[in-house]
Amino acid sequence: MARPFDFKTPTQSQARLRQAGLCAQCGNSLDDEEEHAHHIIPNQSGNPREPNHAWLASSENCVVLCHVRRCASELLRALPR
Ligand SMILES: [Zn+2]
Repeated sequence: MARPFDFKTPTQSQARLRQAGLCAQCGNSLDDEEEHAHHIIPNQSGNPREPNHAWLASSENCVVLCHVRRCASELLRALPR
């Protein structure tokens, strides 16, 4: 089921390029099969009817991780509050 701010393939590619093909958290090389586009600000926090929220689906809100469960939880812990 698609969520309103899911990343499009080109957006994910842009984020992957920005990271030089490496996981944003652990630095492993990303693998097309396993990599996972992760929202920095969570997808579900946006309102699809609010045009200002469109950036939730942009590459600025996208980090590509090699392993979403492990790397996403480490990433969230590392983010400043
Ligand atoms: Zn990783």
